[in-house]
Amino acid sequence: MNQTTVVDATFASQCVHKPSRVSCTVDLGADGKQFGHMTVPHSRDDSAWGSIQIPIIVLKNGAGPTLLFTAGSHGDEYEGPIALMNLARALDPADLSGRVLLVPTLNLPAVRAATRLSPIDGRNMNRVFPGDRDGTVTEVIADYVFRTLVPLADVVVDVHSGGKTLSFVPSAVMHELEDRDLMDRTAAALKDFGAPIGLILRELDNQGMLDTAVEEMGKVFISTELGGSGTSTAHSVAIADRGVRNLLHHFGVLDGVPVLPSAAGDPPTRMMTTHDAGCFIICADAGILEMAVDLGAEVKAGDLIGRVHLYEEPEREPAPYHAKISGMLLCRHMPGLIQRGDCMAVIAVDLA
Ligand code: CA
Repeated sequence: MNQTTVVDATFASQCVHKPSRVSCTVDLGADGKQFGHMTVPHSRDDSAWGSIQIPIIVLKNGAGPTLLFTAGSHGDEYEGPIALMNLARALDPADLSGRVLLVPTLNLPAVRAATRLSPIDGRNMNRVFPGDRDGTVTEVIADYVFRTLVPLADVVVDVHSGGKTLSFVPSAVMHELEDRDLMDRTAAALKDFGAPIGLILRELDNQGMLDTAVEEMGKVFISTELGGSGTSTAHSVAIADRGVRNLLHHFGVLDGVPVLPSAAGDPPTRMMTTHDAGCFIICADAGILEMAVDLGAEVKAGDLIGRVHLYEEPEREPAPYHAKISGMLLCRHMPGLIQRGDCMAVIAVDLA
């Protein structure tokens, strides 16, 4: 071990117990309903002593589990912010047994800019966990979530959608976990969310995700992919509104039972997985994307999924992309143009 490493390790151990640089205007332990802000220092050219004020809502009544809901981790995903703000206004704390923490626009700078990444530091909120109190704005926010909010929570729900570049068949999402008991409890909650799809997701890259950080603490973690294309629909928002409320019923924070898809005459949540690398179709060309099948289509291995037109060489045949596995088209690239390295499509398969 060289001298630099020793110094860094000492410095790191001193930082572990430093308080967060985020201050909160609400009492996270008080009964009732409070709307407030998480204040993140942000000194900059147009505001010397400026800050970013991220809305947080606390609803609490007596004893019971704590559910932490976050959304707006990526600033171009809208079902989560809408559903959490709807829930914050609608819930009467007198109806609760426990506590609900709501952060509808976690990456507020990205929400303002309608971008996936923070326009301040270019960081991806869901790739910087557990965060860094001495880091950039995005890392400071993540550090507060990880060291202050997550420890209060029994269950963490991070509501995502596909953003501007992807679109999904609305799905509640969890990961394959080594802890079978945690996996079973998570799967039960996932089904009660009541999305059309319940997905056991294999991440292409899970480093720095809130998901991984919470799962490693042994807590139930649910995420979603509720739509995308940089907007929301009546259908996707209805699923989000119903799903977040269903989780309150599932964990007994709110009386009553989850409203499942069958209540509207829809099929039950279809449990699927993307366990196989063949589920992901990655583009190796740059051009105009022509999809051959639409979201939700059932496909067979070998079926044509899409073609990439090489628009500066129209005499060439477009590059075909075929399914490597049989299943359902769960997710697709949305912009008309596609680049080499982009995820063109994801095919999910039914859980055995
Ligand atoms: Ca996302």
